[in-house]
Amino acid sequence: MAYHYKCRHCGTDIGMLDEPVLDSMKLGFHALTSQERQEMISITQTGDYQVSSICEDCQEAFEKNPSNHQNDFLIQ
Ligand SMILES: [Zn+2]
Repeated sequence: MAYHYKCRHCGTDIGMLDEPVLDSMKLGFHALTSQERQEMISITQTGDYQVSSICEDCQEAFEKNPSNHQNDFLIQ
């Protein structure tokens, strides 16, 4: 089972990881409620996980113009 990371803003494939525990800590999954987790993580047809994340480009754009994208980037 693998975790596929996709940018939720531009749709770019960020990468794939086989070690979800380490990365879930990095992404802050442990701090999410189960409902928030379900919204961020979906299961693909092949049985892998697809995780809505953010790519470096969008992260950079967000840091430069936080007010433009603030609502998009906040995890509600
Ligand atoms: Zn992006």
